[in-house]
Formats: sequence, C-alpha cells, structure tokens
Amino acid sequence: MYRPRIKNNICTNAHPVGCFYNVYDQMLDALDAPIKTGKNQTALVVGASSGIGLASRLALTFSAGMDTIGVYSERAAQAHKYGSAGWYNNQAFEYYARRANKMALSTNQDAFQKNAKDWVIQKLQQNDKKIDVLVYSLAAPKRNIKGVAEYLSAIKPIDENFQGHTLDVFEEELRELVIETASQDEVDATVKVMGGEDWQEWVLRLKKAGVLAENFKTVAYSYMGPEQTQSIYGRGTLGCAKAHLHETAIALDNALVSMGGQASIGVLQALVTPSSSVIPGMPLYMSVLEQQQKKFGQCENALQQVNRLFKEGLFNKSRKPEQYLRVDDLECNANVQQAVKAVYAQLNQSNFCDLVGIKHFKQKFLQQFGFAHDFINYEQKPDPLTPPAIHDFSELSYQKAG
Ligand code: NAD
Repeated sequence: MYRPRIKNNICTNAHPVGCFYNVYDQMLDALDAPIKTGKNQTALVVGASSGIGLASRLALTFSAGMDTIGVYSERAAQAHKYGSAGWYNNQAFEYYARRANKMALSTNQDAFQKNAKDWVIQKLQQNDKKIDVLVYSLAAPKRNIKGVAEYLSAIKPIDENFQGHTLDVFEEELRELVIETASQDEVDATVKVMGGEDWQEWVLRLKKAGVLAENFKTVAYSYMGPEQTQSIYGRGTLGCAKAHLHETAIALDNALVSMGGQASIGVLQALVTPSSSVIPGMPLYMSVLEQQQKKFGQCENALQQVNRLFKEGLFNKSRKPEQYLRVDDLECNANVQQAVKAVYAQLNQSNFCDLVGIKHFKQKFLQQFGFAHDFINYEQKPDPLTPPAIHDFSELSYQKAG
C-alpha cells in the first residue's frame, strides 16, 4: 500500500507514475494551444519543477516550441527512497521534451546562489545559446545568503491579526484560525525571500555574461487577489514581498531598454499548488472560488493561465509592453466574488461540507503529488526509480477521448 503522507497541508511523499501522468496530461493541453513566437528561441524557468513554473515550461516547450533550461530545488529519488513530486515532474518533463527534440536542461540546486546562475551561463555558452525569455516562478520558504544570514519567509498579516477559518484538507476539518501580526524582521525577511532581489540578480548576472538575446523578455509571477484574501495576502508579509517584486520589474525594465528588453509582472489567479495550499485560509478560499467559478463557467487551470498570459500578453506583438500582464480577471469577476462572499457569510462547522467543494479540492491537492488518480493501483508500492519510458499513457488519452 502506498499512501500520501500529509501534515498541515504539506504532502511529503509522491507517486512517480501519478507525477509522470500529470506532466503528460498538461503536455497534451499545451500541444493543443499553440503560441506564435520567433523561431529557435530559448527560455529559462526559475522554479521549474512544480505548479506555475512547470506549467510555464510546458507551455514554452509544447505550445511555443522553445528549448528550455529549468532551475529547481527538490528531493531526488534514490533506489530505496522516494523523491519529491517536483523531482518526478522534472524527470517526466525532460523525457517528453527530449522526445519532442527540444533541449531540456535542468539543475536541481538553490536558485538563490551564484553557482546556479553560473551553471546556467555555462550551459548557454556550451550550447551556443542566448536566453529569449526568463520566467521567474520561485516560491521558497527560505533564502540563504552565504556568510550573511538565513532569511525565513513568514505568512502573516501586518496591520491587524488575521481571524478566519482554515481548511485541514486531509482531516476535512474547518478550523478557527488567528494569526498574529508579523514583526518588522519577519516582514523584511519575507521580502528578502519572495521579493525581487534574486530575480534582479538573475537578470543582471546573465546580462553581464552576455547571454541575453536581443528583445529579451522576463516575467515574474504575482498574486493580487480580491478583498477576500487581502488580510492574509495582499496586506500581509507576502503582499509586501510582491510589492517589492513589482518595483523590481520597473527597475529591470529600465535596465533592459538599451537591448529592446522588457520586464513584467504576470498576475495570476489563485491556483492549487504545493505552495498556495500552505497559505492559511487559501485552501478554503480556493475551494469556494473554484466551485463558484465552475458555476459561472469561468475556470482556468495553471496551464491555461500561463498560456493566455504568454499568448495575449508577453508574446503579443500588437500589445504595448505593460508592467502588469493580468490574467486574474476570472477570479476577480464581480459575480464570482459576490457568490464567494455569499458562501463565506453562511459558513459554519455544520454546513461547510455541503457548501464547500472540499472533496474536489482534496483530489486536486493530492493529484499534485501523483495521488488520487483512478487508473493507479495504490495498493502496490511503486519503484522509486522506475524509468520514465515504461509509462505510456497514450492508451489513457484514447480512453479519455472516448
Ligand atoms: P510551487 O510550490 O508549485 O513551485 C515552486 C517552485 O520553486 C518549485 O519548482 C521549487 O522547486 C522551486 N524552488 C523553491 N525554492 C527553491 C530554491 N531555493 N531554489 C530553486 N528552486 C526553488 O509554487 P507556485 O504556486 O507555482 O508559485 C510560483 C510563483 O507563482 C510564486 O512566486 C507565487 O507567489 C506565484 N503565484 C502563485 C499563485 C498560486 O495561487 N499558486 C498565484 C499567483 C502567483
């Protein structure tokens, strides 16, 4: 028997076959949604192994036909030890990208360090390539600056305590939650980890090394969100870090003018990923949101979000470069938000199972780690190092297609 191990909405193990399937499934969606860009382009994705960064790499490869380099930090599998979901995702990505004759180089190391940046520069020089697009999609709990300090990111409100509910996905419980305001040190540390400093270091280091192509574009991801999420996000430590990221986009945009470059912020809607599931209050909000978005026919997954951002924003030649490329309109839609508020107004311990799409959220959450797929027999323990080539999901796709 192979079961997910979950604590506080963090899943610490992963099913290799389920992770391979997730990547395969997203690849099919990416192939179905082509994006026009220049020929022979190369993209770098920082934070490439899961969630939005992985979806971006899939879209850049299979929708836009680019070669890619990915940077990520995951637990690698060993003969008798399972790897993390992101490690399996990356194995699967490389397998499918190479089968499609695309360059897919990846490095499993701390993106904050100079070594990671220099590894990328070296690979570009060895392959005689320059970067056309850099997607910065890091969601990190900490950042170590050698010889200086280790900064821990905090998810806390700033002006007043957060009082609300949170959802324990695994226990299917709604819990009252109070989070006290952050200290100034916690705010500063969160800005160090999740603000724009490292994004800027990446771009300036690659520029100095001469490995950025003419008309180079870079995008970093952010969340603005509606009133419902402001107390824990927008007006909290993470919101502060994102404000720093947004200021960095302006500074980078100026630094790139001479080479016809552009730096923007991609504003996405709330999506179920390993990182967003640990933000207090967000699992509950995302469960309610998705249920209401479905009712209004206003749903998009991570791949659809980044595909639209690239197609209508970043690579849209008829659109003037903008600081914000927003694709969070479906979440912020007034009708959807009114319906979300109405659910929150009625919510209590006894009715939340009826009012909130918790089963669906739980399934989506588990699927991120390769669990909760009905075609996998979880009674059998998988081999941690099963070679990807034996997972042929094409039969499943035919079944899906009827
Ligand atoms: P995620 O947890 O799914 O992915 C995070 C990625 O960062 C992984 O590839 C991980 O390996 C990598 N990473 C973490 N620490 C690293 C390190 N030190 N070195 C190298 N790689 C490291 O997170 P996500 O939800 O996809 O978030 C990505 C970005 O998108 C974040 O900036 C987040 O704020 C933003 N965003 C997320 C949402 C959402 O709802 N999920 C919405 C809008 C914006």
